[in-house]
Amino acid sequence: MKTCSGLAASTGIAIGPLFVYRPADVRVERRTVRDAVAEQVRYDAARSAVAETLRQMAERLEAAGKEEEAGIFEIQLEFLEDPTFGDAVHTRIGEESTNAEAAVRTVTDELVAEFAEIEDDYFAQRTADIQDLGDRVIRTLSGVTDTPLDALTEPSVVIAHDLTPSDTASMDPERVLALVTEVGSATSHTAILSRGLGIPSIVGLGAMVEEPGATVIVDAIKGRLIVDPDEETLERYRREKAAWDARRDRLLASALEPAVTTDGVSVEVVANIGSVAEARQSLAFGAEGAGLLRTEFLFLDRPDLPSEDEQYTMYRQIADAYGSRPLIVRTLDVGGDKPIPSIDLAPEQNPFLGQRAIRLALADPDRLLYPQLRALFRASDGRNIKIMFPMVATAGEIRQLKAAVASVRTELQQAGTPFDGSVEVGIMVEIPAAAVAAHRLAPLVDFFSIGTNDLTQYTLAADRTNETVAPIADYFEPAVVDLIRAVIDASHSHGIWTGMCGEMAGDPLALPLLLGLGLDEFSMSPSVIPDAKDRLRHLSREECRDVATRCLAAESASQIRSILEQYV
Ligand code: PEP
Ligand code: MG
Repeated sequence: MKTCSGLAASTGIAIGPLFVYRPADVRVERRTVRDAVAEQVRYDAARSAVAETLRQMAERLEAAGKEEEAGIFEIQLEFLEDPTFGDAVHTRIGEESTNAEAAVRTVTDELVAEFAEIEDDYFAQRTADIQDLGDRVIRTLSGVTDTPLDALTEPSVVIAHDLTPSDTASMDPERVLALVTEVGSATSHTAILSRGLGIPSIVGLGAMVEEPGATVIVDAIKGRLIVDPDEETLERYRREKAAWDARRDRLLASALEPAVTTDGVSVEVVANIGSVAEARQSLAFGAEGAGLLRTEFLFLDRPDLPSEDEQYTMYRQIADAYGSRPLIVRTLDVGGDKPIPSIDLAPEQNPFLGQRAIRLALADPDRLLYPQLRALFRASDGRNIKIMFPMVATAGEIRQLKAAVASVRTELQQAGTPFDGSVEVGIMVEIPAAAVAAHRLAPLVDFFSIGTNDLTQYTLAADRTNETVAPIADYFEPAVVDLIRAVIDASHSHGIWTGMCGEMAGDPLALPLLLGLGLDEFSMSPSVIPDAKDRLRHLSREECRDVATRCLAAESASQIRSILEQYV
């Protein structure tokens, strides 16, 4: 028996035989060609063929409602059809009299190296897309048509160094019990795909297990792969799997029911999403709307800014998916720590304290603020859309943002463009200044949504991306809990509501505390909604008020945790 650990990217337990996947080697031999023009024509033909395949795959996935997966192929298509890509290949062939395969390899390698330099997990993952695209073009040029995961004949646990979009598209999900990869992170394709399909997965295992056919246990709750388990372990996991599956089925069966506490309080449970696909998926998990649409996803992976019309279409599609349920759209939240290609950002010493989110939007409103607000107001017509501004610190910023909102409304009115006149406008409370001054800010807005991810890092001065200080950045620290209470109380005394869209809102341990503090809306990752709703149904708000009072008297995060652990 051997155990390896990685990151549980899609929770669940699977037991089955191991299928070791090794993709066909895409080896390139460099040759000198006599007729460079003929070679360029050969490349053009291969490019057209690959473009057609990518288009078909994207359409097929989109028709199946898998927008996110389809997006992977759309990105590849954009790279392939970008004239600079084709020009670079032609130049290589022309100047070096080299074969098309070698030219494609060089150009993709250069592009991958460029992307790998950007210190951002998302971009790092895009290098896999480019590599995959290059391999696909080279295979087409060499006449190799491999069918990677076709050898999978019985339901198996698939292990691979990494999985490319082409691999996953050719995979029969009925035959895949779980996915395990040697590399990858929470945003890798394997992670996205497995969450979408509801298949347990572990990424970033750090090692390959080369034992085809061996019985393995994938514990994608703790992030463990157990190879050749002994009978006792196997039996224990069979029971755990049965319990896990039964619990998941039970939770899913009641996910659409409202979360009403034992003392009759109806709690609003909504989702944090980033795409149309996630919006649809969240509904199946019982989301009663979206408390946070992170619009920055629309701005990634592209050299230019999305136009007002593109934004309008996306907001409309997502709002339509939710019907009459609310959709809270957060305006662009990017900056030094979340770079996007279409905005030129000066390097900053402390990007988390720099020019990000509304600070950027207010510095360049014609490109960043007005198009987004116009798109949102246009999409609001007949739909339940609310607008939320991130990273607000002062009343002055709110006044500036509200002036922009007023001017967009006047502009649309004058143009006779219909929009909802009662769109609520709120702010994220994620900077301590806003939390401390919540009683001053409340009269200026329609709602607050507490962003505990940033509020915690700023309150405790502990970088949320720095593992060394991760234990300090604890949202159960009394200082953070005090701020949360102050924000909720300030909102209620001014007749507005407070939600929470930071990770804390979906933490089972935090639910009694937040309910007791009077939080009005809980917004969380879609897959944890069924569990959160189930837990809320077993809580009494009256009782939770006492729990919250005890937590507020505690001196440390560990004391608060132990009060909550005892209660839960
Ligand atoms: C937060 O800061 O809590 C939040 C929800 O926003 P993000 O994680 O996108 O910064
Ligand atoms: Mg934030």
